[in-house]
Amino acid sequence: MDKIKMTTPLVEMDGDEMTRILWSMIKEELLLPFVDLNTEYYDLGLEHRNATDDQVTVDAAEATKKYGVAVKCATITPNGARMEEYDLKKMWKSPNGTIRAILDGTVFRVPIIVKGIEPYVKNWKKPITVARHAYGDVYKAAEMRIPGPGKCELVFTGEDGTELRETIHDFQEGGVVQGMHNLESSIESFARSCFSYAVSQKQDLWFATKDTISKKYDHFFKDTFQEIYEKEYKEQFEKLGITYFYTLIDDAVARVVKSEGGYIWACKNYDGDVMSDLIATAFGSLAMMTSVLVSPHGYFEYEAAHGTVQRHYYKHLKGEETSTNSMATIFAWSGALRKRGELDGNPALMTFADKLEEASVRTIESGKMTKDLALITTFPDPAVLSSGDFIKEIRKTLEELLNAV
Ligand code: NAD
Repeated sequence: MDKIKMTTPLVEMDGDEMTRILWSMIKEELLLPFVDLNTEYYDLGLEHRNATDDQVTVDAAEATKKYGVAVKCATITPNGARMEEYDLKKMWKSPNGTIRAILDGTVFRVPIIVKGIEPYVKNWKKPITVARHAYGDVYKAAEMRIPGPGKCELVFTGEDGTELRETIHDFQEGGVVQGMHNLESSIESFARSCFSYAVSQKQDLWFATKDTISKKYDHFFKDTFQEIYEKEYKEQFEKLGITYFYTLIDDAVARVVKSEGGYIWACKNYDGDVMSDLIATAFGSLAMMTSVLVSPHGYFEYEAAHGTVQRHYYKHLKGEETSTNSMATIFAWSGALRKRGELDGNPALMTFADKLEEASVRTIESGKMTKDLALITTFPDPAVLSSGDFIKEIRKTLEELLNAV
């Protein structure tokens, strides 16, 4: 069988610890035998980030702007302990933060659904993708402890000297206040990323705020989404037969629980923080959650939603066997290859991505899985495989699927 050709390079960002080990196993077993892999490789492993003064992260993000699609392995975000462990020159920033600052955009978390790992919500049949706005609100707020009686005001002083003033509260006793903000540009780019992703996935988009209570702040989010939808996306949505649906956040949570899934749920920053963990847990496992950064300028970066699985890595270093789940990392690759295929008009690459996902899902559905899933599966006697054996089993299924074509 001839290997599938790629016309444009995919930006490949390698990472750290156990996921770095999985990364090379996935390439070795599931990609290189079948695809003439054309990647531009950036080593975002912490040692190399340190050696290049983190320039490699910036270069990888710039390459993503050039080529449009990237796949990223999980990476360590340094803290005090890592400074010592890796003898770092500096406490380098989170690579994901650096990349997001360069590409702009919104992170979509997408659960992988398989039989045998049942969502806690029985009627969820299709994935629910959560899109979290990643700027402002309570995460960039100014707060104050009010010591006693007094008047607290919001004051805006324009550069031209105009002043806007609003009383927050006439305190008769002590209390607390909080001032938060957001930006037109950030809300607009959040909206565009959500609409573009809905179009690319051909899925409905839901958005919810509390605009009945927050008549200026949340209302601005609601209006921005509506205006951008009408002006830039309505026609495409109608052509694809998908809908944009706005409702109140309390109504949204009720509908989400009663739904069968299969849509994208855009959430304000705090709602997204809370809801993405709720959705991930309710779908079964963090190890079964992929994530894609969609920039409003049309760049896509795929990765697993989990971290570097540090504990397993230390076992691996001691020579002990690990059973680390590679599903989310495999789906990061398949997502990126499919998008590359779509942009390049390369149907063979898109079909390969579909088969790779199918082979991975089928492997679990045949009762072969890693330990994290074996602990929660509804299958009676799952076969618990090591990290490497699980990937080898997927390869067998993939070969069968590809030979059947
Ligand atoms: P983690 O996601 O690596 O692990 C959290 C827990 O989930 C652990 O108990 C782990 O055993 C389990 N788990 C996660 N993925 C699994 C998998 N594929 N198979 C089996 N079990 C799995 O998060 P952490 O321990 O908080 O962080 C470890 C490192 O990862 C940190 O240095 C952190 O900075 C980094 N991190 C990176 C990213 C990223 O690059 N996107 C995201 C989160 C954390």
